[in-house]
Amino acid sequence: LPPLDGYKCLNTGILERLNAGEIVIGDGGFVLALEKRGYVKAGPWTPEATVTHPEAGAQIVGVNCHFDPLTCVKAVKMMKEGVEKAGLKAHYMVQPLAYHTPDCNCQGFIDLPEFPFALEPRILTRWDMHQYAREAYNAGIHYIGGCCGYEPYHIRAVSEELAPERGFLPAASEKHGLWGAGLEMHTKPWVRARSRREYWENIRPASGRPKCPSLSTPESWGVTKGHSDLLQHKEATSTQEMKHVLEKQKKVKTSA
Ligand SMILES: [Zn+2]
Repeated sequence: LPPLDGYKCLNTGILERLNAGEIVIGDGGFVLALEKRGYVKAGPWTPEATVTHPEAGAQIVGVNCHFDPLTCVKAVKMMKEGVEKAGLKAHYMVQPLAYHTPDCNCQGFIDLPEFPFALEPRILTRWDMHQYAREAYNAGIHYIGGCCGYEPYHIRAVSEELAPERGFLPAASEKHGLWGAGLEMHTKPWVRARSRREYWENIRPASGRPKCPSLSTPESWGVTKGHSDLLQHKEATSTQEMKHVLEKQKKVKTSA
């Protein structure tokens, strides 16, 4: 496959690109990446929109954030079924987390005890990303991206998985060999033996944290948008308010 240099993006608009049959890869990682870099304190979270009513005329339908890739692909598949059942047509988009969230409740990763600053053990490997890209493509999704947790190597893995369909390899692909091919040069023979797709496709990575559970219990406050507990604060939480929050949390935990 040719490297990225051989590729020219003639259409700049997202709809033009999707209408032309292009598979678009989103670059992801926005909110948490900015937060990690110290740009986001509280409040100005990127507005998120999930289009659930195709009859409203949406040309692109999909989900963004809060759940892991395979959960999001599953959700978009259901939306696609709904759109098609209504006799409508749309493009499909998915921008999931780069974290595994099999233990989430319906509100997604914000209810996990690790949110937002201890999520790293849940991060997807590049090989998980290959699987995600393939599943999304097979589901008929042509805008395949990422939200919180995505790093450049994740997006590169998504692009590499879909290189045969897109006709070119992504930027920075030349820095490594596909499926660990560069390990052929490794000094240790047992590592050299890992320079193949089959090895990485079947790996079940250990977390290396013997005292940690593999799944967490999400918080379940049972409140959602519009509830007085969810108001955006203009000032930092006062000591009195924090006391109230901690008491409430204790109650939620004991009733769970
Ligand atoms: Zn996000």
